[in-house]
Amino acid sequence: MNQDYIQPNEWSILEEGFDVERVKSSESLFSIGNGVMGQRANFEENYSGPSFQGSYIGGVYYPDKTKVGWWKNGYPEYFAKVLNAPNWIGINVFINDEALDLFTCKKVEDFKRELNMKEGFHRRSFIATLPNDIEISVKATRFLSIVEDELGAIDFEIEVLNSDAEVRFEPYLDGGITNTDANWEERFWKTLEVKSEGDKGFVLSKTLKTEFHVNTYMQSEVLLDGQKQDADFTKTKTEDKLTFSYSINAEKGQKVSLRKYAGYVTDMNHKRSDLVEAASKVLDYATKAGFSKLLQEQKEAWEKIWEMADITIEGDVKAQQGIRFNIFQLNQTYLGKDERLNIGPKGFTGEKYGGSTYWDTEAYCIPFYMATKDQQVARNLLTYRYNHLDKAIENAEKLGFTNGAALYPMVTMNGEESHNEWEITFEEIHRNGAMVYAIYNYVRYTGDFDYIPEKGLEVMIAIARFWQQRVNFSEQKNKYVMLGVTGPNEYENNVHNNWYTNYLAKWCIEYCLETIEKVKESHIEDYERVMGKTKLNEGEMAKWREVAENMYFPYSEKHEVFLQQDGFLDKEIVPIAELDKSQRPINQKWSWDRILRSCYIKQADVLQGFYFFEDHFSKKELEKHFDYYEPITVHESSLSPCVHSIQAALLGRTKQAYEFYLRTSRLDLDDYNKEVEQGCHITSMAGTWMSIVEGFGGMRVKEDQLSFNPTIPEDWKTYSFKVNFRDQILKVKVTADKTVFFLEGDNAIEINVNGKVIEVQPNQECVV
Ligand code: BGC
Repeated sequence: MNQDYIQPNEWSILEEGFDVERVKSSESLFSIGNGVMGQRANFEENYSGPSFQGSYIGGVYYPDKTKVGWWKNGYPEYFAKVLNAPNWIGINVFINDEALDLFTCKKVEDFKRELNMKEGFHRRSFIATLPNDIEISVKATRFLSIVEDELGAIDFEIEVLNSDAEVRFEPYLDGGITNTDANWEERFWKTLEVKSEGDKGFVLSKTLKTEFHVNTYMQSEVLLDGQKQDADFTKTKTEDKLTFSYSINAEKGQKVSLRKYAGYVTDMNHKRSDLVEAASKVLDYATKAGFSKLLQEQKEAWEKIWEMADITIEGDVKAQQGIRFNIFQLNQTYLGKDERLNIGPKGFTGEKYGGSTYWDTEAYCIPFYMATKDQQVARNLLTYRYNHLDKAIENAEKLGFTNGAALYPMVTMNGEESHNEWEITFEEIHRNGAMVYAIYNYVRYTGDFDYIPEKGLEVMIAIARFWQQRVNFSEQKNKYVMLGVTGPNEYENNVHNNWYTNYLAKWCIEYCLETIEKVKESHIEDYERVMGKTKLNEGEMAKWREVAENMYFPYSEKHEVFLQQDGFLDKEIVPIAELDKSQRPINQKWSWDRILRSCYIKQADVLQGFYFFEDHFSKKELEKHFDYYEPITVHESSLSPCVHSIQAALLGRTKQAYEFYLRTSRLDLDDYNKEVEQGCHITSMAGTWMSIVEGFGGMRVKEDQLSFNPTIPEDWKTYSFKVNFRDQILKVKVTADKTVFFLEGDNAIEINVNGKVIEVQPNQECVV
């Protein structure tokens, strides 16, 4: 664990001083990406100390054969792994034949790293004394272009400080890459060809089984004091690797740099036979433009993103840095350009959660993308699931469901379930409800009801079918019950009647029935098409209704709260505050058995339901539930603090909301869960955004209208955010005594502020 070393700064993530213990954490925190590919902030030059190498390509995965102790019927055959892809950042450096390796240097001074979020690049600088006593100053800048998203660029600059020296750069491409996370220690890539054309180099590889073809490419330039040199170079090829070697004699004080343009082109976007030509084109574009112009384009592209997505906070640098880090990472992970891609929980920052898509997207990410981008982006995210509907139906069939019932996977790359811990794969079925909730949320926010007749309704019907088949009638309770599930709180498995899951199931059915009626009235052709396709009839709908009306919900009269599941009160309820700090996080300190028997809750579970369906309950009810469950919640899922922050703000507990806000926004920067080495928690970053906009800003959409109920944490002078609401942009700026709204659009809108309806005119400040 490495806390408290990130320097507070409004626009950058900064680290000072070299510490081998921090390398892996920083590799996660300083990760860069462009929505299509991304990589951990590994050093370009060889580093022999502990490091976690990672470079990833969106959508390129490997089905790693399931490995379990005892095979159970229904297990998915494989776990889809995010693949560590061929390395193109490598530049080995030798000074008078001595390798630069920060792990073996005699001294490393003035080490600094910067992740410049405003302009979208990573920079590292240091002064190192090599074992041969040569002292060099290094500045390495790297970015992944969001303008030309197959391209990355590196400027690696060296100044020899204490003598003249021969500097040798060896830029390389390496296809011989393995995953840290591999069930059978197999290689996932096969190198097909290593080739060069002049100073362009290519490594053509394919993934085994999935057969993604990827061309990893590079081209380099050498500069002496800013002047391009015609440096001779040699080439070395091995089975997986291509290395070019450039030597240059530098006098003491001269600056030599290697600029490397490199990246991936894949057969997701090009014909296999065109992969070399496609890479060559990108390289021609890059070398023609040159590093500085590419970096300039990068800055301008990021400026556009920030123009819409930025949240400013005055008076609290750490809070400001936190939210910008979250917004930056989300945009590095997914920009919404390609509907085949999605938002993995670790994005491009690590391998854990090997699959790409979880319920996180539907439950947490959609609001961020809806409000900060064109609504088409959120529609693409919904369409991604629509395109997987057949696979979700197959998935349910494998488990014994019939008649077009769908169970969406817990983890997926291509629609197939690819998670294989039984309590999650088979039991954590609440994710199905999140698919429907996202449709509801999208339509509520955008007003794009057409999505439902076009695509959403089929998904909703298949999911309603699943719920109706998943429950059974309990004669003892005279109600429908749902046995053997895992709720969002994964620290309980195989429980009966998880309140959240039962509630969501009932709601899905009711919402589906109500929507069918609406579609019948407004989109008769679609209605007939969908009814014909799904063969849904009145008899089946009557069964659904019967289930929804008679669903069982565990409740405690004594505490006046819904119980997380049957038998919850048999547990010994001891608030976390009474647990010794040395015991936390319990998932690293306790046996699984002890966790399961304890009352401790990993993340919002009943409260997740209260978050989704806030309107169904009174504030008093929320307060009771919050006060019952939060004190026994350990927030060991990154998805937890944001929900609690929003609810604390709603309850008027701004101080507590602020604490949760810091925890969610700086979860990785301050390594709260002591695991940032493995990668950053990308999906929960959208929750951080929600905790400002929905939490402090109190933004909701009610009956086609935005409403706000702003509060402000004590230490903040102001905060501001923008939302794209139905193609008009509303800027909201909150201070302790007023809120200022500014509408960038053409048509006045009505909004509700603290319960009062007001009209906001375009291009005029409206002060409340
Ligand atoms: C959480 C899940 C989440 C997953 C990926 C787990 O730790 O419990 O709710 O979907 O992480 O973020």
